[in-house]
Amino acid sequence: MTLKKITIAIDGHSSTGKSTMAKSLARRIGYAYVDTGAMYRAVTLFALREHLIKRGKVDEPALKQHLKQGDIIITFRPTKEGKSVTCLNGKNVERYIRSMRVSNVVSIIAAIGFVRKAMVKQQQAMGKDKGLVMDGRDIGTVVFPDAEMKVFATASAQVRAQRRFDELRAKGDTTTTLEEVLANVTERDRIDSTRKESPLRQADDAVVLDNSYMTIEEQNEWLYQLYLERANS
Ligand code: C5P
Repeated sequence: MTLKKITIAIDGHSSTGKSTMAKSLARRIGYAYVDTGAMYRAVTLFALREHLIKRGKVDEPALKQHLKQGDIIITFRPTKEGKSVTCLNGKNVERYIRSMRVSNVVSIIAAIGFVRKAMVKQQQAMGKDKGLVMDGRDIGTVVFPDAEMKVFATASAQVRAQRRFDELRAKGDTTTTLEEVLANVTERDRIDSTRKESPLRQADDAVVLDNSYMTIEEQNEWLYQLYLERANS
């Protein structure tokens, strides 16, 4: 069986495990993996560090200037263990971008048109040769509308909040409550789906994956079978 090189777009609601499934599929089939949420999170971290977000309002002219000047360079660096870490201006920021401090405002940053334009441009450049799995909110609709395989992941808000909560606890966050995580997940979905610029929506040709009651193994197998079908046609 000869399989062609394709583009795989995985979009969906917050905390549906998109990154986990995208990462393991990429590893299994030897594709590159790009976590676009990490890019919006890195821009958010930069904005927070530069005090460009005050009471939920962003100093857009200043942020635009920084982006234009090339002050916000986001890259992914492979580690010895075969993982990939997000770097902001050359520094590993992986542990900072997943914090609640960033999660609480990332959707505001991601709703800004010029931020999206800059990120989408980089994402399209990364995927120009196909052979990659990219996860986010607008990959199948805006970044790669011609992707051969599009998945839209969803699960109940309660299940998603519990998963993110367990993740935070595992990382040593002992203060954030499940209610706070649930509120964050729901609020991000609301902002992501109602924003003017590339709102989160299921592409017409995307396949829905509701993983509320699926194990990671079942989900991985489901994705792999879909890949075989798409890469073989
Ligand atoms: O995927 P993750 O939950 O890490 O993404 C963080 C936030 O980044 C999302 O809530 C969304 O606001 C934004 N995002 C986006 N477009 C993408 C990826 C993420 O707007 N392609």
